[in-house]
Amino acid sequence: MEERKRFKQGRREKGYYGYLRDRYKELIDNKEREGYTPGLKGMAGAPEYEFVDGHDFTSFLDYHEETEGRTLLDYRKQAYSCLICRVCNFVTCYRQTSARFNLICPSGDRFRYDNYFGQGKFQMIRGLIDGELSQHYPPAEPLKPIFKPTERFLHAVYSCTMCGGCESQCKIQKLLEPMHAARTLREWLVDNGIGPLPEHQALFKNMANYDNPWGGARTARTRWIPKGLKVKELGEGKEKAPVLYYVGCTAAYIQPIQYVAATTVLNLQAAGVDFGILGRREVCCGSTMLRLGDRRGFEKYRDRNLEVFEKLGLETIVTSCAGCVSTLKEEYADKLKCEVLHIVEYLERLISQGKIKPKNKVEMKVTYHDPCHLGRYCGIYDPPRSILASIPGLKLIEMERIREDSYCCAAGGGVRTAYPEFASWAANQRLTEARETTGCEVVATVCPFCEENLTDAARPLDMKVIDVNQLLWDSLK
Ligand code: SF4
Ligand code: SF4
Repeated sequence: MEERKRFKQGRREKGYYGYLRDRYKELIDNKEREGYTPGLKGMAGAPEYEFVDGHDFTSFLDYHEETEGRTLLDYRKQAYSCLICRVCNFVTCYRQTSARFNLICPSGDRFRYDNYFGQGKFQMIRGLIDGELSQHYPPAEPLKPIFKPTERFLHAVYSCTMCGGCESQCKIQKLLEPMHAARTLREWLVDNGIGPLPEHQALFKNMANYDNPWGGARTARTRWIPKGLKVKELGEGKEKAPVLYYVGCTAAYIQPIQYVAATTVLNLQAAGVDFGILGRREVCCGSTMLRLGDRRGFEKYRDRNLEVFEKLGLETIVTSCAGCVSTLKEEYADKLKCEVLHIVEYLERLISQGKIKPKNKVEMKVTYHDPCHLGRYCGIYDPPRSILASIPGLKLIEMERIREDSYCCAAGGGVRTAYPEFASWAANQRLTEARETTGCEVVATVCPFCEENLTDAARPLDMKVIDVNQLLWDSLK
């Protein structure tokens, strides 16, 4: 049985520690896996613990309702419960295969100081809540000290990519949520007029003026459509279709990434799907504002989009952007009457229904990079892999850090805008892992954000980054 499914099932049946104990017995007996962490051999003889959680923490969507609407003070208990055990710094211990690629937190990996890892977010929150970071001690009122953040404080907060690597490790073992806490810290900084950084202001201005973070004109939103390709435009007084392809700002405006939108349309057309786009009337889903801590700004976009979606009477919304799909699934889905899917989920369905059948050989060795917003945020790991597996001639070779343990390329969370050198460093780390652990020169992924960041870093390395949609289309056309 595939390791992740085995883990989920085992944890449900035996609890976390019970599962680990039995699995390690098996691994040792069968010599099934080389290179597991030797210290954990001891787990084989561990007593039986009952780990009662009542949850299946496979994605952040599993417990979204619990974290919604929390304030910084709601994280006080968690902040004091952090043991500084550093579990959140690393790939899950029993899945580590090398010391070279065992860190999971890109900002901690780059800056090598506590505040940059998950535990540091809790320490900063403790300092803020209880006044230790205040210039006046003790503070007159918690959270209302005269607080002037240092440059280092802001750097630690905003070089967090919001990838959730820390939380995917901590949540199942210590039940804490360092990434959600870091996001709430950003919201507190915005509410108190401290955040975000001056570098982010351009994104906010672009949102206000053009309804997208990249500053593209509204009239240019459909320039990604290649000449001769006809796509229905949905809306009042326009055409109708049960499926909406929500393109997203990056695939719509960033020229080297526009092929993602074009190949998505070609794949949907090849399957005979009745779908349409919003065209020039499409606006940002608000993800950028949400990740930068401007919750109220985000809600304006969400409500505006919800009104438009509602009027279309849709059955399904698909998007080819990992950032859009996590925002739509997390923040929109319970207010919608239709389903929300990433294009890889939809295409996998179409392939299994026999509506498209990859036929052309694509002789290529590729490795797959799990985008954080698709993987950890939404729990979507298998569909892109099964699409790649369905392409004749294509060989998928996995890197060391995959699925819940994927290493973020540092494009998100406003990092590429504020600290482009760090974003490029992290992308370089990821590509190095791809090359060294798989021998592949091609990295496939399904997030325009990751693609833009990784593509820039891939050029000097003579590597290639390609969207799964393109690989599928190469096999269909
Ligand atoms: S955030 Fe969680 S995993 Fe990280 S140090 Fe604290 S308790 Fe440990
Ligand atoms: S969200 Fe990602 S970058 Fe931020 S602290 Fe956690 S692992 Fe590090």
